[in-house]
Amino acid sequence: MTAPIITMIVSAIVFLVFFVLGEKVKDVVRTAFLVVSLIVFLVGIKWIIDINVKRNQIIGENNACLLRMVHITRAVENYNKNRVSFMENLDVNKLVEHKFLNPNEINKGCVYGNDGDLAAGGTVICKKHGSGKEILERLNKL
Ligand SMILES: [Zn+2]
Repeated sequence: MTAPIITMIVSAIVFLVFFVLGEKVKDVVRTAFLVVSLIVFLVGIKWIIDINVKRNQIIGENNACLLRMVHITRAVENYNKNRVSFMENLDVNKLVEHKFLNPNEINKGCVYGNDGDLAAGGTVICKKHGSGKEILERLNKL
């Protein structure tokens, strides 16, 4: 966020120079300063908007991934509760096949796996976004 703010400060300085020069210089030079300060100002505004759009995209993507991870974890718990054989490594297709997981909750750009034995304290992770803990840490930094 500092770079766009510096851009805005530069535009303010250029604009002040435009005023300080006053009538000492030709109209062409004053107009040039005005145009440059306006362009730099608009670039700064666009930059700030882009940063916020990108930030919101990252928040939305990570929140959605975390929610799917919770649903998959719950599905694995239900699967292991209701089966004689435990699911140790994540098999999303098996969870869908046995109706523990809605197929709409997967295949949204994330690939899920597991960190450790899921029947013995292991956790579901996303190969793109990391573990739930990592996602929460990333979201807290934004
Ligand atoms: Zn993900």
